[in-house]
Amino acid sequence: MSKIRVTIWNEFIHEKHNPEVKKLYPEGIHGMLAKALAASDLEIRTATLDEPEHGLTQEVLDNTDVLLWWGHAAHDKVADEVVQRVLTRVWEGMGIIALHSAHMAKVFRQLNGTSGKLHWRESGDKERIWVTNPAHPITYNLPEYFELPYEEMYGEPFMIANDAQVLMISWFEGGEVFRSGFTLQRGNGKLFYFRPGHESFPTYYNENVQKVLANAIRWAKPVISTPYPKTHRPEALEKLSTKDFAFGKAGIIKD
Ligand code: ZN
Repeated sequence: MSKIRVTIWNEFIHEKHNPEVKKLYPEGIHGMLAKALAASDLEIRTATLDEPEHGLTQEVLDNTDVLLWWGHAAHDKVADEVVQRVLTRVWEGMGIIALHSAHMAKVFRQLNGTSGKLHWRESGDKERIWVTNPAHPITYNLPEYFELPYEEMYGEPFMIANDAQVLMISWFEGGEVFRSGFTLQRGNGKLFYFRPGHESFPTYYNENVQKVLANAIRWAKPVISTPYPKTHRPEALEKLSTKDFAFGKAGIIKD
């Protein structure tokens, strides 16, 4: 059986500029995840924003079955050309897993089709993640719920597509709830969004978080992969204004 080819993409900014984050993820979130998710049926590579073409050349994407995406501070630095390339590969059949603050990434927003905005608070709330669909391959082998002692709070309303299939709902000790895990299909490709993963907490070391990602990779691998007909490609990517969503802006709506 051929291996599932996984590319873990990370903007890789906080880990370089914030000593606390660097301590948690010395090899970057992408490097840590590549090690944690390593398995005999996976071929894992990583890519980061500062590489030429953000490490997502046509060749890399053509040889990727499932793309993981972590971004936060530099959504607007991702070239539209690369975004378009990723979208086309998803339409062809590549799976994509959007992590945490990737809810504002250009690729996610294009696939989601709505703003992706949400309420947020960075206070280290306890998070309890309830599995609402225990029959889905992504929630396989998870307990009824699991907890993260400290996380950033994301709360509803979360602007996601109406065809989202929700698999998990989070409760935060501040009282908020959030649709923390959901799937979409776009073209031939499967998308999974997974909420936890704020850079200043050791979330990706959590056993259940890793289980979700491991399950999601196997679920998201292409069922079929066909070149997207050129005639169906949009003329140009819809212009996305990212300046309203600049990193660090105060306010109740998550940037
Ligand atoms: Zn965060």
